[in-house]
Amino acid sequence: MKFLVLMLYKPTTRIVTKKLWLLNLPTKIKVTVWRISWNYLPTRVNMQHRKLVSNTSCPRCGESNETTDHIFRECPVTMEWITWISDQFTTCQNKLFWCGLWAIWGERNKECMSRNIVQVKK
Ligand SMILES: [Zn+2]
Repeated sequence: MKFLVLMLYKPTTRIVTKKLWLLNLPTKIKVTVWRISWNYLPTRVNMQHRKLVSNTSCPRCGESNETTDHIFRECPVTMEWITWISDQFTTCQNKLFWCGLWAIWGERNKECMSRNIVQVKK
C-alpha cells in the first residue's frame, strides 16, 4: 500500500498528463497532483532551498525532512491514509493497482537486464 502514491509521481508522458486534466475532478486536485509530479509543492525542504524556512522537519511526524517523497511515501501518517484509501477500493481496483506496480517493476527489470545496467559488486 506504501506505493499507492507512486501513481502520482512523474506523469511524464503527455497521455498521462492529458488524462489527468480530462478527469472530472476539481481543478485544485488536478493542479496539486501536477505539482506533486514536478516536485513543485512548497514542502519545507523546497522552501528551505528558497531560504523561506530553516526547519525542514516533517510537521506531522517529525521523523524526517519534509520532502515530497516523505509526504507521500514515507511519512507514517501518510501510511495510515493510504491504508484507508486502499480499503475503499473494490477488489478489482486493488488487483489492477497491484498488478500495475508489478508490471512496472517487471519492465524495469527487463530494461536493466537488456542493457546490463544492474551490476553486482564483487
Ligand atoms: Zn512525516
